[in-house]
Amino acid sequence: MSTLRFHAIKKTLDRKPVHIEEKERRSELFGRNVFNEATMRQFLTKEAFNSVMAAMQNGTKIDRSVADHISTGMKEWAISKGATHYTHWFQPLTGSTAEKHDAFFETIGNGLAIEKFGGSQLVQQEPDASSFPNGGIRNTFEARGYTAWDPTSPAFIYGTALCIPTVFVSYTGEALDFKTPLLRALFAMDTAAVAVCKYFDKNVKKVNTSLGWEQEYFLIDSALAASRPDIVQTGRTLLGHSAAKGQQLDDHYFGSIPARALAYMRDLETECMLLGIPVKTRHNEVAPNQFELAPIFDEANLAVDHNSLLMDVMDKVSERHNFKVLFHEKPFAGVNGSGKHNNWSLSTDTGINLLGPGKTPMSNLQFLTFFINTIKAVNDNEELLRAAIASAGNDHRLGANEAPPAIMSIFIGEQLTNVLNELENVTNGKLSPQEKTDLKLNVVGKIPDVLLDNTDRNRTSPFAFTGNKFEFRAVGSTANCGNPMTVLNTIVAKQLTDFKVEVDQLIKKKEMKKDDAIFNVLREYIKNSKKILFEGNGYGEAWEKEAKKRGLSNHRTTPEALKAKVSKKSIKLFEDMGVMNKVESEARYEIEMEDYVMRIQIEGRVLGDIARNHIVPIAVQYQNRLIKNVVGLKEIYGAGFKKFAQEQLNLIEDISGHISSINSDVTRMTDERRTANLLEDFEQKAHDYCFKVKPLFDSIRYHCDKLELLVDDEIWPMTKYRELLFTN
Ligand code: ADP
Ligand code: MG
Repeated sequence: MSTLRFHAIKKTLDRKPVHIEEKERRSELFGRNVFNEATMRQFLTKEAFNSVMAAMQNGTKIDRSVADHISTGMKEWAISKGATHYTHWFQPLTGSTAEKHDAFFETIGNGLAIEKFGGSQLVQQEPDASSFPNGGIRNTFEARGYTAWDPTSPAFIYGTALCIPTVFVSYTGEALDFKTPLLRALFAMDTAAVAVCKYFDKNVKKVNTSLGWEQEYFLIDSALAASRPDIVQTGRTLLGHSAAKGQQLDDHYFGSIPARALAYMRDLETECMLLGIPVKTRHNEVAPNQFELAPIFDEANLAVDHNSLLMDVMDKVSERHNFKVLFHEKPFAGVNGSGKHNNWSLSTDTGINLLGPGKTPMSNLQFLTFFINTIKAVNDNEELLRAAIASAGNDHRLGANEAPPAIMSIFIGEQLTNVLNELENVTNGKLSPQEKTDLKLNVVGKIPDVLLDNTDRNRTSPFAFTGNKFEFRAVGSTANCGNPMTVLNTIVAKQLTDFKVEVDQLIKKKEMKKDDAIFNVLREYIKNSKKILFEGNGYGEAWEKEAKKRGLSNHRTTPEALKAKVSKKSIKLFEDMGVMNKVESEARYEIEMEDYVMRIQIEGRVLGDIARNHIVPIAVQYQNRLIKNVVGLKEIYGAGFKKFAQEQLNLIEDISGHISSINSDVTRMTDERRTANLLEDFEQKAHDYCFKVKPLFDSIRYHCDKLELLVDDEIWPMTKYRELLFTN
């Protein structure tokens, strides 16, 4: 192993940045491999074009006969760009994307062949997908699941395949993917938000959810990554002593991008342009070899597709640059982990960002309505929101010594805090003309459209208002954004629906004016949402204590956090909003719990193997050298040898101590795993993996890392942190 380590380091040191030439302007490359509006105009009949546009904009159904025209146009375009195959492209609950390529090619008898792609193949497929996770929805003897075209996300060419974004559902109609519930949640949001918008502007017909994600990742040389069995198998390091220098000097963040990484980014960005992913920002992150990439925000369903596609593209492009991309939330202990901030807002078809303060008191009242309803939704559903971002990887960020914490809270900044304080004092019942004028002029009307203190002041809040959007920062870097976006949109849609009912009741029963009613309802929401608002430092014991007093949940682990997904309240919420039925909610819970178990199980096996078969033998080998040395000293110096051999003797004993601890901990861990594996109940199993198996990782690691400090560097088998993080 140590030979592999030194071989990898040498290889890495010899690498040169790959030469990247950007010959064309990005604006010209943008969307070239996407079946977008411009391309559709060129390749589709007028009827087919109108039909796709109507489906995209208003969700209308596409007629089967028109589908044939569309598929033919798509095929002609794809072939003209060198594509030979087509595939339904979907996002099963494994967390990655799935595709199965079929050739356009078809024989027609008499030794002849043509290229064909029919409407029915565009609209629906039945992938043999019985091995995708389904949480018991689809018994294997039952028919397969099927994929169905999502015309709201344009088809694209990736490699030599025409990819058609699709949903993936069981034969009985239950969602088996991330996209289906997301589309339903976005529909619920659209319906609920439009109804509320009507209070302010009768012309609003559609509200779109926008999402701008920020993808954090590590780039490690592929040879170095391959030299670590833990990175290869689990995507993170399970052991390794911290480097003397980590991120304490803050010299990586926003620093100049290393040459090889920059070449990678430029290459990647070109690919993104072709695929219509509007990437805009790139920079170094806090930890060494950690980076971030962010696009211009987009409609949420499209943005989720783009992020899933991007992660795949990042992997592919990294091979050309001899890198391995680490998406894991915590690849290295002791330095920052990776997240994927989800910037979220709502906009109308009349061009208004509903989460941006406006220029008039009326538009600001609309802004405050959406702003306060969002706060109330998060306040009432903080546990469900926490559940939406739970995963084995993200547990290392949330609830460990790193911001954001496992406690959900909202940061809104000083100015808006003041506005809420004022609104909380609004008179109960009808407002006097004087009060209303005063509110409009001095409170609502005075919200500046640029909120200065709201940008990046508070980096520790898991959910922050940043001027014209909320930023859900606790999302993990490996996550499919579809999951948190489904939950966030569902809870806010539900809240807006309730709001509408309450306001209408006040207007009807109490004969209040619309504004009075709105102020009255908002006042109560502010009063009832106090516990979620927190402007302070989001991690540490003080906040944990305070949060507990406020009654906020603090689930540090995935098995504890996920439970909220199947509480009576959550199941009803998803049902009421038409997002998921009970079977779907329960299936997801089971799948995620099982995913958790499998990940911890794999990590446990890999760690046991590395500790016992890589570290211990090397420690013994080194110890033997020391023993030989001591024996030699004794031969030379006789009884007085201890004077010269004391340090070696101490080392021999220390090494023995660590070896015996490793051996007994690995044995215990294996026993705990065995016992847990026998459990039938998946909840109990996840619980035991979390609280009985996983804690042993820490002690095994501790002793291995101690040995790393004792054993001769020449023979140490595992590539060290300083080599992984600082060779580029
Ligand atoms: P940072 O958070 O790093 O300071 P920005 O605030 O400029 O960066 O933007 C981060 C992300 O938020 C980008 O992807 C950007 O496109 C997105 N974003 C900006 N405005 C909105 C919006 N109204 N809705 C959703 N996302 C947005
Ligand atoms: Mg941000």
